Amino acid sequence: MVVQKFGGTSVADPDAIHRLMNIVRTARARDGRGPAVVVSAMSGVTDALLGVAAAAGGGRVDDALSRIEQLRERHHATASALAPAEANGALGAQISAQFDELAALARALGVLREVSPRTLDVVAAVGELLSSRIVAAALAEVGTASEWVDARRAIVTNDDHTRAVPLVEETNAALKSSVLAAIDAGRVPVVGGFVGATIAGHTTTLGRGGSDYSGALVGAGIGADEIQIWTDVDGMLTADPRVIQTPRLVPRLSFSEAAELAYFGAKVLHPSTILPAVERNIPVRILNSRKPDGDGTTITAEPAAGATPLTALACKRDLTVVDITSSRMLMAYGFLRRVFEVFERYRTAVDVVTTSEVTVSVTVDDRRHLEAIVDALSEFSQVTVEPEMALLCAVGDRLRNEPAIAARAVGVLEEVPLRMISQAASRRNITVILRQNDLQHAMNRLHEEFFG
Ligand code: ADP
Ligand code: ASP
Ligand code: MG
Repeated sequence: MVVQKFGGTSVADPDAIHRLMNIVRTARARDGRGPAVVVSAMSGVTDALLGVAAAAGGGRVDDALSRIEQLRERHHATASALAPAEANGALGAQISAQFDELAALARALGVLREVSPRTLDVVAAVGELLSSRIVAAALAEVGTASEWVDARRAIVTNDDHTRAVPLVEETNAALKSSVLAAIDAGRVPVVGGFVGATIAGHTTTLGRGGSDYSGALVGAGIGADEIQIWTDVDGMLTADPRVIQTPRLVPRLSFSEAAELAYFGAKVLHPSTILPAVERNIPVRILNSRKPDGDGTTITAEPAAGATPLTALACKRDLTVVDITSSRMLMAYGFLRRVFEVFERYRTAVDVVTTSEVTVSVTVDDRRHLEAIVDALSEFSQVTVEPEMALLCAVGDRLRNEPAIAARAVGVLEEVPLRMISQAASRRNITVILRQNDLQHAMNRLHEEFFG
């Protein structure tokens, strides 16, 4: 039995949903039951919904309402193309009710002029709640027994709205009585990704790109044999295709390599996805929904050593480097604790850390609290901030046992000014921080050297 997660482009329009249905029916015919299906919002819908919230909260209610009408139209049109009778019946009524509610909420936000994270989650969840209803109805229309599963009854989270953390035991129990029960009854459960609810029943979301995470949670919760991530590229590639024109497909990858790549910018996989799979040792496959016969990428605990010295590159832009200097750091203890307490207080994660005799340098992705952080650090040190920096990360299990690979990677970048260099304890990645303007060149050089 497999879990199949489909991203936004794989449910973007009726044609995409037809391709999805073929993939689902093929798996069902092969396995004799399931699969469990997890879907993202139709592509662009989550961004559009956040736009609705921003417009309404900014007092631009007419703008918000016209965005809502466009979304209503798109969902009705998709439903009508795939399941015409249902679109005139229950499904159509559910879509209308959902957007009527959203319009009422937008008017209220326009008065309040404020959008709390809890309200934002209610708005953002609409995309997945509707795409999953449409896919369930479309499957039924072609004669595949299906069941819409309300994600708010399947994924239980804490109340950290907009980036909620799943409660594993509660979620597993909820998945058994919803998703697994549907499979045992001979149906294909269809659940919206990204969305969950607190124990008290408040709608939450798992953070942008979180549908992958939902897919993995469902897979772990029902004990699936495989978690499939269906997307718009052939699998994990040797570099982000928006940065390198002709990256290669990575056929096999270890869980650890995938986790590092996802964390350091390979958007094809949400960074939290791997954990539930690791805990149950469930293989994850990344596949292209436009080319369902491709082999894709298979991620497992210990694949055979890769043919190339490095497995893949990842990069992240828009980072800020913060240098924290104190002469009192020399030979003193407690300094690092004070530094990291400040980041903790403002709930800001740091990606890379290096230290020298008197300076700690960290990179920050989330700039929301940067000013306050700098103020707090300045109370006990000198602080400098450098924006427009980028991170480049080379990942490969072979880095652990073949030290020459790291030397070769850094050597290739000899003419690029590197601001920080770090090799993690796992020694599975080597990460450099450089000026954003140098990133493209550095990526080209490394990719050419190792995958050209
Ligand atoms: P989905 O909507 O299916 O979840 P995403 O847009 O979240 O899809 O992720 C797929 C995208 O990830 C690709 O279209 C590609 O541009 C980007 N990407 C970045 N790095 C990589 C990589 N190393 N391999 C594959 N895709 C990558
Ligand atoms: N729809 C959500 C987003 O755009 C979740 C996802 O697609 O994974 O972030
Ligand atoms: Mg994604």
